[in-house]
Amino acid sequence: MLEISAGGVEAAAKVLALAVRSPQSSAHGDALPELAKVSVAAQLADELTEYLGELTRPGSSGSVNVLPRPGRDPSRVLLVGIGTGDEAGWRAAGAGLVRAAAEQTAVTVRLPSDAGHSAARDLAEGAWLASYRYRLASGPDERAPKLRRLVLATEDPEDVTEQIGQARAVVEAVILARDLTNAPSLQKSPKWFADRVSNAAARRKGVSVTVYDEQELRAGGFGGILAVGAGSARPPRLVELSWRPRRPHRHVVLIGKGITFDSGGISIKPLDGMKLMRKDMGGAAAVCGAVLGAADLGLPVRVTALAPMAENLISGAAMRPGDVIRHYGGLTTEVQNTDAEGRLVLGDAIAYAVRRLRPDLIVDLATLTGASHVALGKRIAALFTHDDELAATLASAGAEVGEPMWRLPLADEYLPGITRGIADLNNSAPGPGAVMAALYLREFTGAMRDRWAHIDMSAPSWSDRPDGPLVKGATGWGVRMLLRWLGGL
Ligand code: MN
Ligand code: MN
Repeated sequence: MLEISAGGVEAAAKVLALAVRSPQSSAHGDALPELAKVSVAAQLADELTEYLGELTRPGSSGSVNVLPRPGRDPSRVLLVGIGTGDEAGWRAAGAGLVRAAAEQTAVTVRLPSDAGHSAARDLAEGAWLASYRYRLASGPDERAPKLRRLVLATEDPEDVTEQIGQARAVVEAVILARDLTNAPSLQKSPKWFADRVSNAAARRKGVSVTVYDEQELRAGGFGGILAVGAGSARPPRLVELSWRPRRPHRHVVLIGKGITFDSGGISIKPLDGMKLMRKDMGGAAAVCGAVLGAADLGLPVRVTALAPMAENLISGAAMRPGDVIRHYGGLTTEVQNTDAEGRLVLGDAIAYAVRRLRPDLIVDLATLTGASHVALGKRIAALFTHDDELAATLASAGAEVGEPMWRLPLADEYLPGITRGIADLNNSAPGPGAVMAALYLREFTGAMRDRWAHIDMSAPSWSDRPDGPLVKGATGWGVRMLLRWLGGL
């Protein structure tokens, strides 16, 4: 992991980075005033003034312009755009900086005196997230960035050290989620996932974990999780991970879909739809990461993650279209499509949370439907809830950290399709896909129907290319949003 630390403003720097605000956002229509807030030598200030005058869009969020000064000190100045100087701007700047400085070994960022109370945190977060790499190749990584050290030079190193510490706790939780989600399914059995989470829990005070194996799931009546996992040689698990602070003022249950590979089952997917299905446990990874992050941040709220883990494969033991399964709590489902498996494991977990854990709020995260991608694209998740306040607080936490959500309706008009058939429910009723899935899940919420939110994060769980704090592959979507939201409860 890139080393990020605070330093004093007098520290010498071979490679210096300075923040530049977008001119449109400054009263003077001018990027230069930002530079006046850091003290640089008069000679360098003149050079920078001249250089900035030549740039077409200095300061745009995440942009980096490089002024080389061979033989002098500093030998290179990076002008890093922070846009309007908001949280997203600083995060983009951190990400842009580590990409632009990949060939340097160390960079000193001089923070302006009025950078804002979270600028260092956001810069560090963006830098760490953008420098994440996942690699299983055996040879050396030729393209690995050389950047080892980032020093944030400031008038108040103590405060900046604290901010960097906060960013680190959040980023470590995101990295865990990304690592778990990127891991190939050959390695990533339900048991493997449970073991990884258990190891992470064991290293933390106040965090405990219970893993239900297939016998315990059978004894407990978790028919949805068992049916989905029936076709795999590697049996399912239910992971219950809990952070309990000393005097919690609330209890939140986070539930994450944990399909370690989704072939579709007997309703098999075509190859193109199957290639990335190791990421079908991104919700489980996010909620487990969030619990561990909440512990590291010492958040004063009790958080329990439930991760129903199963591999949806085909074999002589696999569930069939037309089967009827009985969930935890007693509801039955007619399985009309074995590829609509996520809601089957989530139904068990939601019913368990409502009956056994009795929390104040339930939020589930799931890579649930392609329909949410069609509706909202690659970067926006779909949010469903009857609770307006819950919707508002989740959406604003997501907007702050750059994990936006848009609310879609739990439309009763479509409910009859779900409750028609020989069982209580069927898992593949015609209608708008993301809404139908949410309506199905709602059936398991019982008395907590109005204190539950469902988030379909299928599309934003993966990025096809580097984009700000995202790198190609698993995004760890939801960890930062959840931690911000939990922190505000
Ligand atoms: Mn599926
Ligand atoms: Mn799935």
